[in-house]
Amino acid sequence: MTMIRTTCTTCGEVELIPGELTLQLTALDGAGTYSFSCPACGFDQRRPANHRVISILLATGVDYEVIEDKSRITETEIRRFSAALDAEDWAEHLQI
Ligand SMILES: [Zn+2]
Repeated sequence: MTMIRTTCTTCGEVELIPGELTLQLTALDGAGTYSFSCPACGFDQRRPANHRVISILLATGVDYEVIEDKSRITETEIRRFSAALDAEDWAEHLQI
């Protein structure tokens, strides 16, 4: 069984099996984080994962989920903004 070595903020170095980690991937840029419950102290831990870490974790069979990046502007927001610009009285709402 492949062991994944990582660190807990409280306990230091810990070893996990792939089933004990979950990888969260961001849909657009491929960046990610992984989370796990420390086997020693039980606290939930979250760590950034670069591309290299992501490919290692995926290769060892870690479960992953794709999450939407909330910091990016969405199609809905663009449509709402565009509709607001089309409203005739938008200039009256400007604060000078
Ligand atoms: Zn710990």
